[in-house]
Amino acid sequence: MEAINVSFGKWLSLMVGLAVATLVAVMQWTSPTWVSNGPVSGHVAAVAITSGGIGVASGLLHWMAMSRFDTELLRVIGYVESLGRSAVGVPRYEPRFGLAELTATVERTVAGLRHRAEQLVTQRRELDIQLRLADAERQHAEAILNSISDSVIVTDAFNEIALTNEAAARALGFDRDAAARRPVDQVIHDNTLIKLIKDTREGGDPALRRHVEHVVGHNGRQVVYDVSLASIGPSNERPGTQPHNHETAGVVAILRDITREKEIAENKTEFVSNVSHELRTPLSSIKAYMEMLIDGEARDDQTRSEFYNIIQGETNRLQRLIDNILNISRIESGVVKVQREYISLAQVVTEVVDVMKPQARAKQIELVEVPSPLVFQVFADKDMIAQAVLNLIGNAVKYTPAEGRITVSIEHDERHRQVRIKVADTGVGIAPEHLPHVFEKFYRVHDHKKIAKGTGLGLALVRQIIETVHGGRIEVSSEVGKGSVFSFTLPLAENRV
Ligand code: ADP
Repeated sequence: MEAINVSFGKWLSLMVGLAVATLVAVMQWTSPTWVSNGPVSGHVAAVAITSGGIGVASGLLHWMAMSRFDTELLRVIGYVESLGRSAVGVPRYEPRFGLAELTATVERTVAGLRHRAEQLVTQRRELDIQLRLADAERQHAEAILNSISDSVIVTDAFNEIALTNEAAARALGFDRDAAARRPVDQVIHDNTLIKLIKDTREGGDPALRRHVEHVVGHNGRQVVYDVSLASIGPSNERPGTQPHNHETAGVVAILRDITREKEIAENKTEFVSNVSHELRTPLSSIKAYMEMLIDGEARDDQTRSEFYNIIQGETNRLQRLIDNILNISRIESGVVKVQREYISLAQVVTEVVDVMKPQARAKQIELVEVPSPLVFQVFADKDMIAQAVLNLIGNAVKYTPAEGRITVSIEHDERHRQVRIKVADTGVGIAPEHLPHVFEKFYRVHDHKKIAKGTGLGLALVRQIIETVHGGRIEVSSEVGKGSVFSFTLPLAENRV
């Protein structure tokens, strides 16, 4: 707009000068006498011509000056544009035509804006870093939460899911990604748990932590949880909003799977009662026969000898039981005395099979020993290996119904320089979920408890003898209703004969 005014001014003065000069020249030319004789005197004409000339000259001068000013203005605009593009490398502008103040103001404004822009870039960079740090921290916290095997559920002041971990999603069967910020009762479908969380929220005392035992059905299995519940102290959960008039800002619920612990505790109690029972039975028998002997009830030598035999048998049984318990604890505590010698496995197996045959026969079970083509020698504690084989065959007899068959065999694995002893039965079998646990102490398959008495120590002892003491390996494969195969390997002795 300014440039238009400047151009208009310079053209106007040029035009006015030209108009006056032209008017006087036309008058002189059309009627020179009118100028000398007419109403206009010669002086006036001279003045008019001179002022016309001055008008033209000043118009020309003004026009030239304005043209240069225009050019200067364009330089200033170019300079300002360069300043806007870059702070460095812009040639310094030497102001002319009084434009110094204008350019100085522009320079100051540009410098101020540039400084502000730099500050904003720095701020943005800092915010970027903080955002990345916060993101990394969030991922780290999530990774920690997911590495916890317990199920964690955190709700907020609005009874919505604030945090959960994968264990919780698995245990309670919800989609973790879709759960965030949704009402608890839309995510969890376990009414007891929903009520526990609600009660804790309403109870409101953050100092109090409740523990509740709660059973949840999961994949057709009953899982017992210790649910620990605590409310979180008040805080503003969402920016700009106040928690309702509730005192709590949410609830933290941690579900710990205690199914195994409960089973072990139950098994231990059962073990103590089983062991007491097992100890009491031979003890009562010994006591009864001793009393009969003392009272003179055994009147002849044959009866007395019969009583002595029974007492001896029961004493041996008692000793075996106590030995079993002690052996396990000795092996576990590393104080067992191992008497290694070169032994023939075939011979050990034959001896044990012979001991077990009467028991098998009594249950109408066929106990077969597959003759081994070679005499395998191992460097081992004979009594311990015999005990391991005895426990496996004993179990096979216990858990195989009448008319069944037990096959004991020895296989040679030259490649791994080891032998494998296998005890296969056609018994009740073991369900897959129990297989990983049968070698644990006190573990008994629940459904088998009514089939046979036991302590849950037999296989634990076998594993200790084979794996801990002899460096072998014990395995089991089984099919419910078809039977089981227990086998263990032992390294072959170097000097095999
Ligand atoms: P127990 O004294 O109860 O027999 P074990 O430690 O010997 O204890 O065995 C642990 C559990 O493994 C048993 O209670 C039983 O349920 C299962 N088991 C062991 N051997 C067999 C087998 N041959 N067939 C089926 N189940 C078996």
